[in-house]
Amino acid sequence: MENCIFCKIIKGEIPSAKVYEDDIVYAFLDITQVTPGHTLVIPKQHVQNIFEYDEDLAAEVFKRIPKIAKAIQTAFPECSGMNIIQNNGEVAYQSVFHSHFHLIPRYSQKDGFSMAFTDNSHQYTPEEFKHRAQIIQDTIQ
Ligand code: AMP
Ligand code: ZN
Repeated sequence: MENCIFCKIIKGEIPSAKVYEDDIVYAFLDITQVTPGHTLVIPKQHVQNIFEYDEDLAAEVFKRIPKIAKAIQTAFPECSGMNIIQNNGEVAYQSVFHSHFHLIPRYSQKDGFSMAFTDNSHQYTPEEFKHRAQIIQDTIQ
């Protein structure tokens, strides 16, 4: 897609530090290096976000992620864990609208990456909780 920075990276029109490439995905270092080895895995097909994937593309892309994750872990022996993050939509902190998976190797809980989950469980009765699950279940195709 024109004017997409990640499509330009795939085509070599913008430089990147390549980690892996095949017919389906391109992987390269995220310029911010939140932690050493922070890598982005992107489908070569331009899809904006998770809502634009079909099952086959999702399977093909995700199938490649474990081997890239394992390579990062091997390359950085101090890596003792990894966050894999995929932001969808501006509200979810997506800033580049060509879908991508962040592979963020973790070295300690003070290595520069953090995430916060608010526990709202006390706000719901068991019935409300079940109802919420049910309305999602009812719309799955
Ligand atoms: P997100 O905020 O989830 O959309 O992530 C987009 C990521 O793309 C950010 O972490 C940026 O640092 C990264 N990024 C943007 N431009 C480049 C670039 N030219 N090379 C490498 N990483 C980039
Ligand atoms: Zn693109």
